[in-house]
Amino acid sequence: MYNRGRRAELAEKLREMLPGLDLVVDAPMSEHTSFHIGGPADILATPGDEDSLRRLLLWADKAAVPLTVIGRGTNLLVRDQGLRGLVVRVGRGLDRADVNDGTISAGAGLALVELSKLAASRGLDGLAFACGIPGSLGGALVMNAGAYDGEMKDVVERVEVMRPDGTRAWLSKGDLDFSHRHSALQGGGLLALRAELALRPGERSAIEARMAEFDRLRAEKQPLEWPSAGSVFRRPQGHHVGPLITEAGMRGARVGGAQVSEKHAGFIVNRGEATAADVMELIERIRAAVRARFDVDLAPEIRIVGEG
Ligand SMILES: Cc1cc2nc3c(=O)[nH]c(=O)nc-3n(C[C@H](O)[C@H](O)[C@H](O)COP(=O)(O)OP(=O)(O)OC[C@H]3O[C@@H](n4cnc5c(N)ncnc54)[C@H](O)[C@@H]3O)c2cc1C
Repeated sequence: MYNRGRRAELAEKLREMLPGLDLVVDAPMSEHTSFHIGGPADILATPGDEDSLRRLLLWADKAAVPLTVIGRGTNLLVRDQGLRGLVVRVGRGLDRADVNDGTISAGAGLALVELSKLAASRGLDGLAFACGIPGSLGGALVMNAGAYDGEMKDVVERVEVMRPDGTRAWLSKGDLDFSHRHSALQGGGLLALRAELALRPGERSAIEARMAEFDRLRAEKQPLEWPSAGSVFRRPQGHHVGPLITEAGMRGARVGGAQVSEKHAGFIVNRGEATAADVMELIERIRAAVRARFDVDLAPEIRIVGEG
């Protein structure tokens, strides 16, 4: 961990370089993740435009300051000692969307829910599945987010990325190597900046009716009343995670403040004061139980970052 003086010095340099930058020193990640868990980020910056983003990346690269990029923090477990170096949040300011016939070009900071509503309002079909996924477009591209009848790979044409040195490139759908909750953007050191999505014409009322049905199903099946990071595990081939966990006897199991949801066993919920260590311990217990009962290895879907 950088000491207090070093953190203040780095923040000072950034404030000189980018006056007006939204920047917080020792930002508790529990306030920036849907799990409400996680130690402090040394520096959390939310760039308000693309040029500030480029300069931040370049600065971190040159100064060899560790960099973590986040969106809305809805698929993240941040460990209890937090994140070292610079955390860049891609959100407000990088969330512009332009609609052109059947194509939407949107910034990675746009909330997926908003993007889904925008598409429906313009009579464009293909993003109804995304109406209840609480992340950003950037996070959805990285995770190939999906639900019900669709996933990002069905609509993405190409993605513009920023490299650590601030240069940019377009990646085509083929380059992105999408598969179940996976894309080439995972762990590749590239920041997703914007995407072009190809949608098909549809009837607004019919699309919105499907979205309302998806919302109803989600509220019925998912523990939305508790903080979580969505489904914890990827779906193993030929199985469904919830039934595996239930039949392995782990539904409702608890470690500290972390609990396997009674409503949907694929979710771990924060019942109050859960720590990342509680969640990690519970994940290991679930994996061991499922392995012992079914000889199936569950791999986490959530992204686990930071120091433990
Ligand atoms: C209640 C609930 C329900 C959910 N339901 C679903 C669902 O139905 N389907 C589904 O797929 N997911 C679901 N999720 C998980 C989550 O919403 C998605 O994975 C979402 O796409 C994550 O987006 P985010 O902006 O929150 O990303 P974050 O959690 O902030 O980040 C996720 C990963 O992406 C990286 N990242 C984020 N933005 C960028 C960027 N611009 N450039 C490069 N890397 C980036 C991060 O480093 C991290 O590795 C759910 C979560 C919750 C809490």
